[in-house]
Amino acid sequence: MTVYGPNHIFDFAVIGGGLFGAAGARHLAEAGHEVALLAPPEPEEPATHRGPFGSHYDEARITRVLDADPLWSQLAQAAISRYEEIETASGVTFHHPNAYLGIGVEGFRETKYDEPGRFESSTGGTDFVAASMQVGAAANASAEALSDDGIRERFPFLHPGANESGFVEGPPAGHVNPRALARAQRILVEAAGATVLPRTAVTVTDAIDAVDVLTDDATRVLARRALLAAGAYSNDLLIRPLDLEVQARTLVFARLDATLRNSLASMPSIIHVPSEAPTTYLLPPVTYPDGETYVKIGVDAWHNPLRTPTEISNWFKSTDGDDDERATADRQLNALIPSLADAPKHTSTCVYTMTASGYPYVGMVSERLGVAVGGNGKGAKSSDEIGRLGAALLLGEEVDPRLAPRFA
Ligand SMILES: Cc1cc2nc3c(=O)[nH]c(=O)nc-3n(C[C@H](O)[C@H](O)[C@H](O)COP(=O)(O)OP(=O)(O)OC[C@H]3O[C@@H](n4cnc5c(N)ncnc54)[C@H](O)[C@@H]3O)c2cc1C
Repeated sequence: MTVYGPNHIFDFAVIGGGLFGAAGARHLAEAGHEVALLAPPEPEEPATHRGPFGSHYDEARITRVLDADPLWSQLAQAAISRYEEIETASGVTFHHPNAYLGIGVEGFRETKYDEPGRFESSTGGTDFVAASMQVGAAANASAEALSDDGIRERFPFLHPGANESGFVEGPPAGHVNPRALARAQRILVEAAGATVLPRTAVTVTDAIDAVDVLTDDATRVLARRALLAAGAYSNDLLIRPLDLEVQARTLVFARLDATLRNSLASMPSIIHVPSEAPTTYLLPPVTYPDGETYVKIGVDAWHNPLRTPTEISNWFKSTDGDDDERATADRQLNALIPSLADAPKHTSTCVYTMTASGYPYVGMVSERLGVAVGGNGKGAKSSDEIGRLGAALLLGEEVDPRLAPRFA
């Protein structure tokens, strides 16, 4: 790492080394610019940690091209097309191609989620099954429609409702390991000669000739332009806050013994949009750092906003989550995969950073400061493209106006 003096002005600074920030820094550094990335590491002792947390501290996030929303699908497709080159260049495997199964009720409109926006997930969309198939066809993604019987035949361990049907998208759909993806990006950021500082930004000031970033160890980083990608904590660093809502999420993990591991070996990543219960998403058996293998389920929309950085950090530190959300997730898991009803379960917590537009915000918020913020619970798979757009923004390129930031 090159050591720069206190008056050195970088071409670009990126604040936040999570999925969006690390990707943005990679694209800038690989284009030959002098970049500083502020990337606080994942805390080793979450309970006593005093700094920020990230929404990528997990081993699995669904990746898929099919989405009820065409823009989200495009972002995913662009990012997925670069997974292999990132894996090869970094030496880190993060992509686990398998399949993505969508299950819904034909013609069912989740009125609450008709359009993305106002902090609601757009996963369901207008007639989730039909809209996803339509968007998939336009994107030339490989997808096959399945009836309820077709789902049971293909995946005998699943029990969809009698009124439900769906579709299956083949590889490269499956899941990505978000921790590994962030690591891969940071390896490439360093390999491209950028300066990576394991520090937290305390203030970001848009000065006359540079953005001035002060860190928690009193280091000053100056840059001609900067990209703020601090996830759920981003508003804490902005004078004019973005229209964001940070939502608390509770996850349920079912631990698999050898018999369950075998019987669920062909399980795809799943999004389930029932008509009588909230949308859930499920990850197939994944082995975690504790050596155990789990199936994970989360509820996609649960209104539990967190209003301050302290509330966000305290939520990350708690592991019990919300009792009702946990009970809902558990009920939906046992209904869809009855063989997991008696599996030992535990919970964990995370947060979604929701935008008012339903899309990530990628735009300048002042002359020198841009943002790449708001994964809306589905930004991991598309993060390399969202980061690339953040980099393009700092380089003065136009970005799709649907990604324009909105202010609170
Ligand atoms: C339960 C759950 C399930 C999800 N499932 C999926 C899924 O199936 N598929 C999918 O595609 N996506 C999914 N997502 C969404 C995905 O994980 C997020 O969209 C993604 O992590 C957002 O990336 P980010 O870089 O914006 O934020 P983060 O990954 O949170 O990174 C932000 C980074 O900023 C850093 N930071 C914060 N404050 C500061 C500061 N002051 N100075 C410097 N750095 C700072 C943090 O340390 C962190 O590393 C899920 C999210 C959750 C919570």
